[in-house]
Amino acid sequence: MSVLTMLNKKSIRVTDIASQYWCERQMELRYLYGDKKKTVEEKKGTLLHEMLENETNVPVLLEPKSYADYMYKTLYTSSIALSALKENGRTREVQVFGRMEGFNLVGKIDQLNFRNEVVTVEEDKTRANDNLPNAAQMLPNKIQVMFYRSMLEDIQNGTYTLEDFRKAYYTERLVLTDEFRRQLAAMHIEQSKHSMQYVEKEFFSKVKSMGEIGDTLYIKYINQFTEDTIKIYKFQYSRAELEKSKEFVFKYWKGIRKALPVPKEEKWKCNYCVFFGKQCKVWWGQKTIS
Ligand code: SF4
Repeated sequence: MSVLTMLNKKSIRVTDIASQYWCERQMELRYLYGDKKKTVEEKKGTLLHEMLENETNVPVLLEPKSYADYMYKTLYTSSIALSALKENGRTREVQVFGRMEGFNLVGKIDQLNFRNEVVTVEEDKTRANDNLPNAAQMLPNKIQVMFYRSMLEDIQNGTYTLEDFRKAYYTERLVLTDEFRRQLAAMHIEQSKHSMQYVEKEFFSKVKSMGEIGDTLYIKYINQFTEDTIKIYKFQYSRAELEKSKEFVFKYWKGIRKALPVPKEEKWKCNYCVFFGKQCKVWWGQKTIS
């Protein structure tokens, strides 16, 4: 059985890849056993993201009734967000699709900005206090932004095409529900635009024409209670680093190796893990968890 089948997934989320850099076993256990309980901090983080999105983008009030409707809404919302980038020099919450090593990838970019005439990929991370993240906490965030950067580039240079997208998500067969089309009409969206074929083309063309993507990547750490910026962390995109990361990440998804627990020097992470001592006992029973 493939890893995707075992985890009941069709594609890999970029956040799954980021989680592999925190604890791969935890990421796997989350899919197998669920970890649905959102902490107060996580809920506050989600709320903050929604508030920030509404600040830059026009909210799209569409209620999908089917998978086709959902895909349409996703692409339409992201296309609108990409138009906002052209108009305002910044935008938020842009969905991105890709394919690497034979796997479909999907993710949502927090923020795209025009800085020094290039488009920069930026991620917001909320924290429960003003302390800066340590290197282990920052690594998953860095990996996430590097993959987003690479997926956008793949669309722009034709490594990932509209045809690839159609095949991956069977969009040629998708038909919008009548109810959803009524919602589109109520929003004064022309009838000629009420199709997957229109919206997927629109999305790909917007990504291709949005402008050159910069090599400087940004992670903004925000205090989720005060909403103040703690620090904006800048780093350079490295293709070599991304390739190294792909090699590590996809070995797991290809089933070449099992999910790794954290190494001994990072067993302090287990203290924050809901599976500690239950589904995962790798470091359980060790008296001194530092
Ligand atoms: S208990 Fe530790 S090693 Fe096991 S899944 Fe959780 S974080 Fe990973």
